[in-house]
Amino acid sequence: MQQRDTEEAQMATTTTKLLDNYIAGEWRPARAAADQLEVTNPATGEVLARVPRSGAADLDDAVRSARAALPAWREVSTIARARKLFELRERLAARSEELARSVTTEMGKTIGDARAEVARMIEMVECACAIPTTMQGRILEDVARGVDCETVRQPVGVCAAIVPFNFPAMVPFWFLPFAIGCGNTFILKPSEQVPLTQQLAFEVLDSIGLPPGVVNLVNGGREVVEGILTHSGIDAVSFVGSAPVAELVYEGAARAGKRVQALGGAKNHIVVMPDAVIERTIEGIIGSAFGAAGQRCMAGSVVVSVAEAHDRLLPELVAEAGALRIGDGLSDSIDVGPVISCAARDRILAWIERGAAEGARIVLDGRAPAGVDPQGAFVGPTILDDATPDMAIVREEVFGPVLCVVRADSLEQAIEFVNASRFGNGTSIFTESAAAVRRFRREVQAGMVGVNIGVAAPVAFFPFTGWKDSFLGDLHAHGPDAVDFFTRKKTVTSRFFSSGQTPGSYFVERP
Ligand code: NAD
Repeated sequence: MQQRDTEEAQMATTTTKLLDNYIAGEWRPARAAADQLEVTNPATGEVLARVPRSGAADLDDAVRSARAALPAWREVSTIARARKLFELRERLAARSEELARSVTTEMGKTIGDARAEVARMIEMVECACAIPTTMQGRILEDVARGVDCETVRQPVGVCAAIVPFNFPAMVPFWFLPFAIGCGNTFILKPSEQVPLTQQLAFEVLDSIGLPPGVVNLVNGGREVVEGILTHSGIDAVSFVGSAPVAELVYEGAARAGKRVQALGGAKNHIVVMPDAVIERTIEGIIGSAFGAAGQRCMAGSVVVSVAEAHDRLLPELVAEAGALRIGDGLSDSIDVGPVISCAARDRILAWIERGAAEGARIVLDGRAPAGVDPQGAFVGPTILDDATPDMAIVREEVFGPVLCVVRADSLEQAIEFVNASRFGNGTSIFTESAAAVRRFRREVQAGMVGVNIGVAAPVAFFPFTGWKDSFLGDLHAHGPDAVDFFTRKKTVTSRFFSSGQTPGSYFVERP
């Protein structure tokens, strides 16, 4: 039996597709791969493909191709670059269902959730289509007599992005369309756990006829990341992933003199006030805590119930979360898909044990969900009541469908609990009180705030403004910040002696 399993595994390794990189406008096998990793469907354990862990030589090929493409791409008019993005938008929309199915198959989230992700991916391109407007500089005539001053924006150069597993379609597009729209060339390193959706996205990019080298895809893991941090041909680095790697990337890129933005992990609190509309609050909490099996950086993983809100909320919350259907996200009837891998499942189960050992009470236990594929990586919705802010399960990111409930006596204490977190990505409040909202919005130490909204992830046209350990850098992802990140400002002060207005002395002249 064991021998047959081994033979089957070997067959799978030789027959599943080995993914290529996309460099200089063509698909190429990795030439310096240390080894290959299996890409699996977390709902079934099926091996979908093999991904190379590319090496330094592959990254160097991509950097050379991106650098070579840079001068000519910058020469393309801003309007023509934007037209390429309009075309990209249309072609992504035409393949949106295929992209969504790819997201669900390799990452596990439900198909409805994957469709929403792909819609947000496309929205990023729509926002970047406005670059002829958003990339404009500013000018002021007559800063001195006959002297004008103007600031223009120019591309930064070769930009690279390193992305996580939980949004295989959207997160790479927090960067790619803005970077190339601003006249940069681009290298993407997708998550080695979910490389398939970006293969599709790059097929689409290939079809719009960008000059070779404008966009490049290098599959792999840590080796490629380390190369990105030190390669002198890369000017800017965008990172999204866990807090420890965000720190490593931020420090490494800054040390090498690169522009860098690093979005890290999170622990998001949902405050429920006694006057909250309970039915809608429960809906918001369930979507936030258990959507994508809790694997969103904006997932609400701690409910802070204020005073009598707790007793109104908890029984119904537990009942509704307990009724969620767990299984393969490709089926429309499923509410909660698998987590990314069996290793992630085991880590999450260990967190639940730890929470219980710390004194939290398991009031909904998802450790052994019934009726799921035993080869899949499933954890059911789990709720721990009587949690306290000092517990590790309340402080640290679990990144699974695990919700802790902490009680607070007042809004003031609830804000204190939220602000005690080292993370500051998002937080939400459920209440009908404008006064409570005003105080919460003003005092809370988190960068994205939802009011009666469980997942307050901003649309593409606003920046994704995490704070504290959830974000290292100055300029955030997407929205106006993206144009700031992907351009360098140049300020020109000028005067002309034959312009008809006799210029004054620039420094000493006063009116
Ligand atoms: P991860 O940090 O393990 O991996 C992210 C990327 O870094 C991947 O491309 C991976 O190949 C690379 N990487 C991993 N370990 C590395 C190492 N030691 N050295 C160099 N590179 C390394 O993150 P993940 O598990 O893929 O994604 C989940 C995490 O991402 C969660 O912590 C989540 O909160 C976070 N996230 C944050 C945001 C945000 O906006 N703040 C958005 C999405 C996800």
